Amino acid sequence: MIIDTHAHLDFPEYKSDLESVLSRAKDADVGCIINVGTSLASSEKSITLASRFKNVYASIGIHPHDASKVSDQNWQTLERLVKDQKVVAIGETGLDYYRNRSPHEDQQRIFHKHLALAKAHNLPVIIHSRDASEDCLRILNEHKNGALKGVVHCFSGTKEIARKCIELGLYISFAGPITFSNANNIREVAKSVPVERILLETDSPFLSPQPKRGERNEPSYLSFIIPVLADIYGLSVNDIKRITTFNAYKLFGIGVPEQEGKVAYAIRNSLYINITNRCSNVCSFCMRETYPIVKGHHLGLKREPTTEEVIEAIGDPTGYDEIVFCGYGEPTERLDVLLAVARFLKSKGKRIRLDTNGHGDLINGRHIAHEFKGLVDTVCISLNAETAEKYEEICKPVFGKKAYPALIQFIKDAKQAIPNVQVSIVESPNVDIERCKKIAEELGVDFRVRKYNVLG
Ligand code: SF4
Repeated sequence: MIIDTHAHLDFPEYKSDLESVLSRAKDADVGCIINVGTSLASSEKSITLASRFKNVYASIGIHPHDASKVSDQNWQTLERLVKDQKVVAIGETGLDYYRNRSPHEDQQRIFHKHLALAKAHNLPVIIHSRDASEDCLRILNEHKNGALKGVVHCFSGTKEIARKCIELGLYISFAGPITFSNANNIREVAKSVPVERILLETDSPFLSPQPKRGERNEPSYLSFIIPVLADIYGLSVNDIKRITTFNAYKLFGIGVPEQEGKVAYAIRNSLYINITNRCSNVCSFCMRETYPIVKGHHLGLKREPTTEEVIEAIGDPTGYDEIVFCGYGEPTERLDVLLAVARFLKSKGKRIRLDTNGHGDLINGRHIAHEFKGLVDTVCISLNAETAEKYEEICKPVFGKKAYPALIQFIKDAKQAIPNVQVSIVESPNVDIERCKKIAEELGVDFRVRKYNVLG
């Protein structure tokens, strides 16, 4: 299921064929649509649409173009509308200094009112910002106090502005223009935005994506935007669908929550296996206790699965390029399950990778690397620091001073048993990348730097 977080289906363009538009949206897997009000009348129509169609939700607000026309009475009506149970957001609101249809002071005053209304009702805000980034960010900053949440829709700003919006906790959505052949700039900006912060939108009836450019837009055309985003992020179409649907659920509370505690989960064309949330490290960058989500998959296990349950969760592994033991926890904490499942997968001819913190010997009280011979094709070991002291500081291992020498020994042993051995570090100003690289070279293994907060 995918979610169009921004459409204007109350516009006259859909007067004659709204039912067909919604039917095509359903066929294209669009499970929810947020109809975004641009005026008082359009906000009322959004609510009417939402009451007619189960999968349509309403956002209410007055576009900055009409800011100078908003009367006290209009505002009171909007405050009454906000109580409708299908209203999931406030907007679209913001600033438009491109068309300048209302004086800037009026636009800013009404933007403030929308933000206050959104916070008062704990709703996200849908922000329109055109040629007005500086004032827009200033006003948003004045409202940031933990309760501010929302999305900058149809983003057209720079990487720097995107970064500031992300820091404010906002989401960013890209509409049809991201598909245009001359839109390399927007695609470059999108690349800088964490995929965990993007949303899908069409802005129907405007901004149709390629190859429908120039025609009336509709929610089913999300299918032209998703492959472009997949290409930008190096992910699959299914990954983008799942991640953006999860993001929309988080922000607007619509759609279906992700199934909790996934044991087997796909990213790109690899299948990941999550057998435990236990770990002998407490890395400073680890989110497993607070937010166990990876690329839209919820990995917080309610209990650890048995070998049989893991195999059942894997199902038919035929189509995957690689099976990876990873998850939010250290797989060698459950060495017996890991080996049994690896044997099953090898019997099916699968390539297997193990992501580990390298503490397996300490955890199991014996040297374990040789036990992976013939089962694991690649092992990725988190080195994370150039010295034992720094490792202790960053990873806070339960094994204390023994941890770093043990992981170095594990790397050496793994070289004898596993065809491909790689060590990795997480990019951080505290870590000396060159020294870590040198350690890898001396050990004769591959080296990789992972981006902070990018998982999967
Ligand atoms: S080793 Fe991995 S799972 Fe364990 S604390 Fe560090 S990041 Fe988290």
